[in-house]
Amino acid sequence: MVADINPFESLQSQIDDAAAHLDVGDDVIERLKHPERVLETNLTVELDDGELERFKAFRSQFNGDRGPYKGGIRYHPNVSRDEVKALSGWMVYKCAIVDIPYGGGKGGIIIDPDDYSASELERLTRSFATELRPLIGVDRDIPAPDVNTGQREMNWIKDTYETLENTTEPGVITGKNIASGGSEGRVEATGRSTVIAAREAFDYLDKDLEDATVAVQGYGNAGWIAAKLIDEMGATVVAASDSSGGIYNPDGFDPVAARDHKNETGSVVGYEDSVEEVTNEDVLTMDVDLLIPAALENAIDRDLATDVTADVISEAANGPLTPEADEVLQKQDTFVIPDILANAGGVTVSYFEWVQNRQRFSWSEQRVNDELETLIVDAFDALVDTYEMYDLDNPRTAAYVVAVDRVADAYEEAGSFP
Ligand code: NAD
Repeated sequence: MVADINPFESLQSQIDDAAAHLDVGDDVIERLKHPERVLETNLTVELDDGELERFKAFRSQFNGDRGPYKGGIRYHPNVSRDEVKALSGWMVYKCAIVDIPYGGGKGGIIIDPDDYSASELERLTRSFATELRPLIGVDRDIPAPDVNTGQREMNWIKDTYETLENTTEPGVITGKNIASGGSEGRVEATGRSTVIAAREAFDYLDKDLEDATVAVQGYGNAGWIAAKLIDEMGATVVAASDSSGGIYNPDGFDPVAARDHKNETGSVVGYEDSVEEVTNEDVLTMDVDLLIPAALENAIDRDLATDVTADVISEAANGPLTPEADEVLQKQDTFVIPDILANAGGVTVSYFEWVQNRQRFSWSEQRVNDELETLIVDAFDALVDTYEMYDLDNPRTAAYVVAVDRVADAYEEAGSFP
C-alpha cells in the first residue's frame, strides 16, 4: 500500500479526466466530485472486561441522483474520512456503469477487528447501526459488507434496524446470509463479474481465452472465485498469491484444490501442485496473458508497472493500480478493465438481493447469474463504444465517461430543489 496517495484526490482526478470529454457544465461536475453529506460519529462500546472504548466511525452519502445511496461498511485500522469519501464516490460510478438504480455511499469504523471478541464486535456493530438509523432505509441508504465485515455484521445491522423501527425490512441491507434474506450467487458475484469482463476483453482484442495463462494476486473471496471460474472457461491458472507468498506451476493447477489447501493451512503457500514458491511481486509481473489483482488497493505502483507483462488486467480489487501505474500500463498498451466495472458483480447481486427482498420472492442461482451476465456484458459494450467513439487511450477513462454522463444526466433531468 502506497501511503502518500489520497484516494479522494484520485477519485476527483478520475472525474476530471472523464469530464474533459463530456459536454457537462463545470458547476455540475463540481457537484459530482463531492459527497452530499458525511456522518462522523464516536461510538462508545463496553468491552468484555467492563472497560469502555471509543471508536471513530463514518458514513458518506456521496450522491443520490440515480437512487438510494449504496455501499459497504469497512472495519480497518486505516479507515479515514477521505478514504470513506473516495470509496463512496467510486460506488456512485460503479452503480452507474452497470446501470443499476443506486447512488453511492460507504461507511467504516477505525478498528482492527482481530483484536476484539465476537461479542465486542456485535455491540460495536449494533451501536453503529443505531447511529445510522436516521440515515439508512430501504429507499434511502442500503449498506453492505466490505473489508472485514460479512454476513454476520449485516445480520446484526438488519436486526438492530428492524428492532428499532418495529418492522420487517430485510432490504435495508444486503450481503446477508440466505436465511436472513440474502441472495443466491452473492458470494461468487465479484469473481464472476471479473471473469465475464475478462472474457469480453479477450473477445474484443481478438485473443483466445482458452489459450490464456492467468495469475491471480490475492486468494480471498474475489480472487479464488475468479480463479475457479476462469479455469472453468478454459484458461490456465498458473500463479496465485496471498499475504504469505505465492505459488506457480507453468502447466496450471486446480484452483479449488489450492483454495482447499489455503483453508487447511491459512495460505496457498505449500500447495502440493506448485513447482516453485514465488513472491507476490513475481505473481504481479509474471509472463501471463491475464492478471487479476484481487488483494488490496495500490498493489501495483509505477516501478512495478514497468515490469507487468500481462496483456489484460481485470481489476477484482478496488484501486489496485496507483494513478502513475495506470499511466505506465496505458503506455505499454495493457488493456485494463477498471474496478468499477470488473468487480461490479458484488453490488449488482446486492441489487438483486434488494429487489428480491422487496418482491418477497427468491430467485434461483441460475437467474441471478443470467441477469448478472447481461448487466456486465452491457456495461462492457458501453465502455467499448465510448472508448472507440472518443478515441480514448484508457478504458478506465471510457468507463468514467459513461458513468459520469449518466449521473450528470439524472441530475440535470430532475432539476434541483430548492
Ligand atoms: P478477502 O479478505 O476475502 O481476500 C483478500 C486476499 O488478499 C487474501 O487472500 C489475502 O491474503 C490477500 N492479500 C492481502 N494482502 C496481500 C498482499 N500484499 N499480497 C498478496 N495477497 C494479499 O477480500 P475480498 O473480499 O476477496 O476482497 C479483495 C478485493 O476485492 C478488495 O480490494 C475488495 O475491496 C475488492 N472487492 C471485493 C468484493 C466482494 O464482494 N468480496 C466486491 C468488490 C470489490
